[in-house]
Amino acid sequence: MPELPEVETVVQGLKKILPHNKIIKVVRSNYNLRIPYPENFPKELTGAYILDVIRVAKYIVINTDLEKSIVIHLGMSGRLLSQSITNLNPQKHDHVIFHLSNNTYLTYNDPRRFGLVTIIKTTDINKHNLFKNLGAEPLSEQFNIQYLKAKIQNKNTSAKDFLMNSQNVVGIGNIYANEILYLAKISPFKVVKSLTLNEVKIIITCTKQILNNAINAGGSSLRDYIAPNGILGNFQNFFKVYSKENKECFHCSELIVKKNYHQRATYFCPNCQQN
Ligand SMILES: [Zn+2]
Repeated sequence: MPELPEVETVVQGLKKILPHNKIIKVVRSNYNLRIPYPENFPKELTGAYILDVIRVAKYIVINTDLEKSIVIHLGMSGRLLSQSITNLNPQKHDHVIFHLSNNTYLTYNDPRRFGLVTIIKTTDINKHNLFKNLGAEPLSEQFNIQYLKAKIQNKNTSAKDFLMNSQNVVGIGNIYANEILYLAKISPFKVVKSLTLNEVKIIITCTKQILNNAINAGGSSLRDYIAPNGILGNFQNFFKVYSKENKECFHCSELIVKKNYHQRATYFCPNCQQN
């Protein structure tokens, strides 16, 4: 499943090709995605001029001059493909195709259909059900010591579950929660209310560092926004603990342990990340 760095990488790519284009036509398949398409979709996007593309949590938000934003979530297996009119190669599971004024097509393809493509009034995005309960953006100033201290107070959640809950901080899934806590040398099972001030600080620093590194690793290898298994480019090469069961710990040479925790694979060093 794509996490914040993958979505950010896609958004950075889209920023280079979408703005200043008009949407000539939008076509969709007869299959619904995770939520039904809004009424009049895709007709009401016809003629819209694309202003910019931003990332909000794990959503791709394409703002238009009609004060409507196209909101896309890649779900488990969604991907966006930009093709020129001469190279158009329709695929099974293409669900929405945007025909743009520069004679390119942007195609949303999603075999498992857990993603979504919808339209939200630009000024209403923060109040919308998809967005209103979201926590802090981890790369923003808002994700700071005061914020985190208030969020962890009296909470019996584990550090890993806490980081993966988008009401606390957005965009972090299983892979990056593992990587962040490994870099922070904090046990994924540690109850958050018992984190020291110093550990809170370390979590903030490590979160920003891991996500920025991942964005940098992905940005250079982006091609056509193809994200098989939700992992783009060379993110895998940069994992230090995720999928490293029985490999030597990068810090201390102890063997990395894998544990199924709340149905998710949890990797940690039993020496560096003591509970
Ligand atoms: Zn270690």
